[in-house]
Amino acid sequence: MKCLYCNGDMVLIKDIFHADRFGIHLTIDHLPVYKCVNCGEILVETEQVKLIQKTLSELEDSLGRKAA
Ligand SMILES: [Zn+2]
Repeated sequence: MKCLYCNGDMVLIKDIFHADRFGIHLTIDHLPVYKCVNCGEILVETEQVKLIQKTLSELEDSLGRKAA
């Protein structure tokens, strides 16, 4: 896989991922992500992004944090 920004090589690593939305702070340790060895850009796999977005939506719903 190549970096979208600098065309450098992307390697699979495990990193801490943070998401902040409507006062909800989600932190995931050791999430498998691709990192560019050249510029440090992080790319999260589509399946992981979907899972994180689903989790955030459910939290927003149950906590009543959805934007009106
Ligand atoms: Zn790059």
